[in-house]
Amino acid sequence: MFENILKGNREFVEEDFRKNTAFYQTLAKGQNPQILWIGCSDSRVVPERITASKPGDLFVHRNIGNIVPCNDWNFVTMVEYAIKHLKVRHIVICGHSDCGAMKALDKEGDDAYIPLWLNNAREAKERVDRKMGVVTSQEAMKQRKKMIELENIRLQTEHLKKYPIVARALEKGDISVHGVYYDLESGQISVVT
Ligand SMILES: [Zn+2]
Repeated sequence: MFENILKGNREFVEEDFRKNTAFYQTLAKGQNPQILWIGCSDSRVVPERITASKPGDLFVHRNIGNIVPCNDWNFVTMVEYAIKHLKVRHIVICGHSDCGAMKALDKEGDDAYIPLWLNNAREAKERVDRKMGVVTSQEAMKQRKKMIELENIRLQTEHLKKYPIVARALEKGDISVHGVYYDLESGQISVVT
């Protein structure tokens, strides 16, 4: 499998890079992305591909469950750099259907770190369960799963706005924050309000 990556890179150089030299040479001098994309690490949700974006368009942060942790140096360093230095204009938080992280909120396992990380998303599940109560039918369970995925996007947007650097940029009108949901079955992105 690893060989495929090297082979794929040779194909990229032949079929894309060498045919678009001017574009890639401009990129080699620096980046100026307008959008910070916060998404799930899921291998099926590829930000550039599902938005037809080019290299240089998106500054990307991905983690399990498209989560905005409340106390995380890795995360806030990335946000500080995006807002202060890259001067992005938009921050997009993208959740998706069939998200393993959201399913894991219902599971109890013996993992050391996953449950701790998912504590940042547990409130989304609790909100939906408070609203829906106990569900038993297949249809209602499916609906609950999607509602948790959507609520998690809203929750992470709330977390994001609590970071002072984000709150200040929003207040000044420098950035706007958007929640979106990617449906793996249709390929479509919808805006979450
Ligand atoms: Zn996911």
